[in-house]
Amino acid sequence: MDSPFPESYEESRARFLQDVEPQRAKWISWQNLIMISTAEHGIEGYVGSAMLKVFMDEFAPRLDPENTGLLLVHAINPWGMKNHYRVNSNHVDLNRNFVFDNDFNPKINPDYDLIENFLNPKRPVRTLRSEAIPFLVKVIRNMIQPGKARVQAASLLGQHRYPNGIYFGGTEHQEETTVLMDLYHRALEEYQNFVQIDMHTGYGPRHQMTVIIPPLDPTPSNEATRKY
Ligand SMILES: [Zn+2]
Repeated sequence: MDSPFPESYEESRARFLQDVEPQRAKWISWQNLIMISTAEHGIEGYVGSAMLKVFMDEFAPRLDPENTGLLLVHAINPWGMKNHYRVNSNHVDLNRNFVFDNDFNPKINPDYDLIENFLNPKRPVRTLRSEAIPFLVKVIRNMIQPGKARVQAASLLGQHRYPNGIYFGGTEHQEETTVLMDLYHRALEEYQNFVQIDMHTGYGPRHQMTVIIPPLDPTPSNEATRKY
């Protein structure tokens, strides 16, 4: 059996275009729209591609095209997927770039300053053996002060003032973001109900699926995981 995990971005894209072609004419409803997107963090697109393949083979045939439309985005961040990066070519974490009203405020997330040195080492790793213990000491030190909750919150929130640091959300909307925003506007205008499932890897417990729901949706995460 062929692996559902593609070897390259090009292979993944070619397979996606081939699989999606016969589906095109089928999805004509204006009622409900399901959008599935992958590779917002480029390198995560290899698992995302496998998920899209499974979705198209096993789940899409169970939907009713009479009341459901389908919008599939193969890779939000194709450059990152091709080059095995999480960020786009401007080193922007696109998941921190959907900023409302262009307010890329460099002052948000002041706690990031406390962990900037820890998160963004200023020299390359020497050998894993020589780095392991000093790294562990740094982790423990940061778990004590500022503490796990603040480290977690400060890192995940993103920031707009360290262009070389992780979780850099950029200082303006990226092209990938603008393309997605345009798709959202059209979906919200044309459909009565719109659900997006954006696939990621590298977050939550290993070998498990976690469903993260936007704060405005009251469904508890474990209930959503069961439902989906
Ligand atoms: Zn991700």
